[in-house]
Amino acid sequence: MRDFTAAQMEEEARRLYALLGNVTDFKTGGKYTLEHCRAIAPSVLAVNNLKKENDAVILAHYYCAPEIVYGVADFKGDSYALAKKAAEFAGRNIIFCGVYFMAQTAKIVNPGKRVYLPPVTAGCSLADGIDADTVSKLKERYPDAAFVCYINSTAEVKALCDVCVTSSNVYDIAAAMPNERIVFIPDLFMADNIRAELKRRGIKKEVLSFGATCCVHDKYTVRDVEELRWAHPSVKIISHPECPLAVCEISDYCGSTSGMLDYVKKSDAKEFAVLSEDGIVNSLELENPSKTFYAVSRPCGQMKRNTLGNILGVLNNLEQAPQVQVPCDTALRAKKCIDNMFEMAGKK
Ligand code: SF4
Repeated sequence: MRDFTAAQMEEEARRLYALLGNVTDFKTGGKYTLEHCRAIAPSVLAVNNLKKENDAVILAHYYCAPEIVYGVADFKGDSYALAKKAAEFAGRNIIFCGVYFMAQTAKIVNPGKRVYLPPVTAGCSLADGIDADTVSKLKERYPDAAFVCYINSTAEVKALCDVCVTSSNVYDIAAAMPNERIVFIPDLFMADNIRAELKRRGIKKEVLSFGATCCVHDKYTVRDVEELRWAHPSVKIISHPECPLAVCEISDYCGSTSGMLDYVKKSDAKEFAVLSEDGIVNSLELENPSKTFYAVSRPCGQMKRNTLGNILGVLNNLEQAPQVQVPCDTALRAKKCIDNMFEMAGKK
């Protein structure tokens, strides 16, 4: 690591503290302290220098730690926003702070770039919840169905599907599919939410679902919501469509990560409980310093495998660090599935 002067490190620590001082450090339960910012400042400085020297961009999902999202990332966002940023990037190296399917998506939409995932094997309970063999068999069983996959799926699964969706466009795309029958994979709870939303819109479609659930969002219960409302009568409950339908239906707002940020920003309410991942609460705290967020979020262990240390490890060794690879024929078919999403979402 390049040497920085004591003055440079202190200046960086104070910059980080000014930015993150209101943000919860979920490892300790307290807020980010100046001491903690002093501890991370050398790594933040090193990452920011190395990425400039190496024509690299850092894309970070909101679920990563705040020192990544706000300390070193060039772009932060949810899966949809990051896929768009990856497609537009004109430089050489993309460091994707997220999980494997997201880095695969970046490689698919911009195949000429070198794409790195700092925690090389970081997975996702949804993407790991269905494989291409299973999808091939489902396609034989339901030849008349549109195959719609959540972006949280592997490249091999996307390659077999008609269109993919994110939590910010899932309902509009499902509604717009011409087929009467949709096979939705792999999020079983999101499929429940699709059925409920189509019914609300008066759209008759059969939605079959196969796969798994998100191991972070699937833990929330109706009882959690009731207890929160009992303890904090003015609280607004925010959930994600990866939560069980019964939880989503009694929430004050249920939507994508970017939708949550928008909802809280525009809301006159002062107290919120966010039934989602810790990282989105950090962003909400940072962007809404006068509002209170009760501690009900959960960490995604795989997202938290992204660290300043493994980002530095990649940037220090770009020639040898493992790159995300997607076989060409798989990538071409998966790209069609992703492009169909961009096209359908762009029509809104
Ligand atoms: S929060 Fe859930 S859906 Fe997101 S990466 Fe983690 S396991 Fe996958």
